[in-house]
Amino acid sequence: MINEIKKKIAKIDYIAIGTLLESYRLCGKANCLCKTSIKNHAHGPYYILTRKYKGKTITKSLNPQQAKLFKKALKNMKILNQLLEEWKLASFTYIYQIE
Ligand SMILES: [Zn+2]
Repeated sequence: MINEIKKKIAKIDYIAIGTLLESYRLCGKANCLCKTSIKNHAHGPYYILTRKYKGKTITKSLNPQQAKLFKKALKNMKILNQLLEEWKLASFTYIYQIE
């Protein structure tokens, strides 16, 4: 059981904690399409990452490729937490059955 969990954890590459905001903007130029239709021609998406580090909030803008990787890292973090929970339970199960 524990070996299975370890194998799954070994496959995880990137992990992250934080919040990703996707925003669209209007540039304000008079002849830009975004002025005619906000819904269809707004610029973006722009990605803003917010995370806590040593008690401080860090904000950073990400390009689409970075955003994609960060989303994957968030998903991996969830999986890792689940696996750690399973590992804990499996450990208790093992410890309890020792006479
Ligand atoms: Zn524009």
